[in-house]
Amino acid sequence: MIFNCHTHIGDAFIKLPHKKYSVEELVAPPHGYKHVMLKKAGREEIINGMKKAMEVMEKCGAHVFIDFREGGKEGVEILKEAMRGRRIKAIILSRPASMEYNEKEIDSLLDISHGIGLSSISDWDYEEAKAIAEHVASRKKIFAIHASEDKREDIGKILDLSPMFLIHLCKANEDDIKEVVRKGIGVVVCPRANAFFGLVPPVNILLEYKADIMLGTDNAMIVKPDIMEEKKYVMRKFGVSEEKANEMISATPEKLFGKFI
Ligand SMILES: [Zn+2]
Repeated sequence: MIFNCHTHIGDAFIKLPHKKYSVEELVAPPHGYKHVMLKKAGREEIINGMKKAMEVMEKCGAHVFIDFREGGKEGVEILKEAMRGRRIKAIILSRPASMEYNEKEIDSLLDISHGIGLSSISDWDYEEAKAIAEHVASRKKIFAIHASEDKREDIGKILDLSPMFLIHLCKANEDDIKEVVRKGIGVVVCPRANAFFGLVPPVNILLEYKADIMLGTDNAMIVKPDIMEEKKYVMRKFGVSEEKANEMISATPEKLFGKFI
């Protein structure tokens, strides 16, 4: 089975602005360009973008994608509607509609999704994020979060949230990575999306420490969600063998997520 381990296909309809943006300006909630566009967009517009993204994923041979779904309960419903009749399967990680913990909301999100995926501890009030993570753990669902994407974040605080996997780690140092591996936390890297912001994920250090490393394509408005292109990029840019690159999109995610499909 082929996995695309990190997508946000809800932003596939958005045309990238010509101006250069930082990660925060472009994709951080709640005021990043993407979130402003999502608020303005009609349901159909978002669904059509998702359908196109899923076509790309099916065409390149992916069987499963793990989507970070914004927009609370409605966001999950939109994705499910867009997926109707499609071959590809999704592991859906939802997100509260606002930036705070609400017990009832998390319960209803967990009823309709595989877990929760948050932006980063830098965007969130830590106590709110912690309450969400603990709630997810009590329901034995998946909790995942972006970590140290364009600035180094406190890995201790991140790991205290007991994530099942982390995304990016571009600015994590070697000690942070050792800690992640020691705790057996999976890492999804998205090197083509990172390159858009001039960032580089620590692929070779992760390999050196034998991390459970996987590949994703991140925001569909930045990079087409073609996981085979991502695989080729990792081989070309980091000198990763084809065998290892294949592991990143099949054996490793299968080991971590097989039971959720
Ligand atoms: Zn992401």
